[in-house]
Amino acid sequence: MPQTTNTSSPPRKRGIGFVKPNQRLTGIPWYGVEGLSPGTLLVWQVMQQRLPTRDRLRRWGLQTDEKCVLCGEEEESHLHLFFECSYSANIWVYFASCCWNSPPENLEACQDWITRVGNDKGKSRVVLSKLLLQLTVYVLWNERNTRIFRNKEKPLEVMRRHLDKSMRNLLLSMKERRTTTNNLLLEDWYFLTSSLRM
Ligand SMILES: [Zn+2]
Repeated sequence: MPQTTNTSSPPRKRGIGFVKPNQRLTGIPWYGVEGLSPGTLLVWQVMQQRLPTRDRLRRWGLQTDEKCVLCGEEEESHLHLFFECSYSANIWVYFASCCWNSPPENLEACQDWITRVGNDKGKSRVVLSKLLLQLTVYVLWNERNTRIFRNKEKPLEVMRRHLDKSMRNLLLSMKERRTTTNNLLLEDWYFLTSSLRM
């Protein structure tokens, strides 16, 4: 049965930081379902393509480099930054492949995937995949900003370890605070990603 208690929209405060979700996503009961991860709101913004990416900044008339700072090769857009970029794909697909045989590899496929799996709240892999998507978007956006504003960067291997550790910390905190009905998420994450630790 579809859940009806977790369909609340994110904050309605407008501006760069917060936007109203589009109609397609408002009925999806995944917002805050398993506790609020750092990337929950960011995913909403990515799906609506509302982050101040360089392609948008240039359309607004700002003089800025068009290139993605993660790969230095393509124009930075939402689609490129989070899915098409070689750096990002090597983060998302690397972990998501542990949960699914064919994880979505672009923005539209990701929206369809979220819509399809949105009601399978109790399934461990679904919950882990959604949390992974949220954290991936979060760490990639942070990495992009750190490269631009602080001139520091994490190599791919360092970023993979960082994301894995962030997932484990998130799942541990959810378990300790009992914010999930599935108290085996952390153990399931270890199991699903065990092949990556060999
Ligand atoms: Zn790139």
